[in-house]
Amino acid sequence: MSTTPELIVKDLHVAVEGKEILKGLSLEVRKGEIHALMGPNGSGKSTFANTLMGHPRYEVTSGEILFKGESVLEMEADERSRAGLFMAFQYPVAIPGVSMANFLRTALNARLAPPTNGDMPAAKRGIAPKEFRALLKDKMALLKMDESFATRYLNDGFSGGEKKRAEILQMALLKPEIAIMDETDSGLDIDALRIVSEGVNAIAGPEIGVLVITHYQRILNYIKPHFVHVMVDGRIQVSGGAELALQLEQRGYDWVREGREVSAS
Ligand code: ADP
Ligand code: MG
Repeated sequence: MSTTPELIVKDLHVAVEGKEILKGLSLEVRKGEIHALMGPNGSGKSTFANTLMGHPRYEVTSGEILFKGESVLEMEADERSRAGLFMAFQYPVAIPGVSMANFLRTALNARLAPPTNGDMPAAKRGIAPKEFRALLKDKMALLKMDESFATRYLNDGFSGGEKKRAEILQMALLKPEIAIMDETDSGLDIDALRIVSEGVNAIAGPEIGVLVITHYQRILNYIKPHFVHVMVDGRIQVSGGAELALQLEQRGYDWVREGREVSAS
């Protein structure tokens, strides 16, 4: 049993181009837990996700981010990723010329064997091609992705739903300890949303903590959070259980903004 949460965020303040966006955000996520972070547009949700991953544009002015007990503030994004933090992007980028399979194998090998371990050339470390193909096939079936995707260029000409599935596929392969999904639901029709959610539910379990960032309650019909947090103006104003998301659906965000108490209805 783990007692210390894998992810601890303490009184985090973050500025972008000199403007303070996060104003004292605190959150703890343990393996085995699913947290939903909700909030209106512009409240700072993506700023938080990008800061967790170490995007250089986001400046932590005070506070702390601990992952597995250690501060990540001095770590580059790739180090955080290898350590077991993962983020599925709100707007995944296309990389023409790089096939999905190549990209995923490179990413997986980086995660499995950090370059600081040993002197072996990169090609000799990590997972064998045959083993990788079997693993990829297995995870693609889980996400109901056609096998032809493996040979296509990463996100190139993918529909919105296909891009999001590609992100979840990455998450399934890399097996992060903490996964952050930034508005993975945006732009998905109901079928794609269901497939993506089923994929997340298949990955979720005792070995992973998931932070689902969303503006809308809809995805939470498919992915059941243990905790819901509502962010307004750079900090979490209210936290609760899954029922909090339903209240937001019915009442909007204004009552949180106005600082009213959650009614016991
Ligand atoms: P959310 O994801 O909740 O919609 P964001 O984190 O994207 O909110 O944005 C919060 C605020 O930070 C907004 O006012 C936005 O304009 C600003 N912001 C976020 N990222 C950047 C950036 N890279 N450059 C400039 N301003 C930014
Ligand atoms: Mg956002």
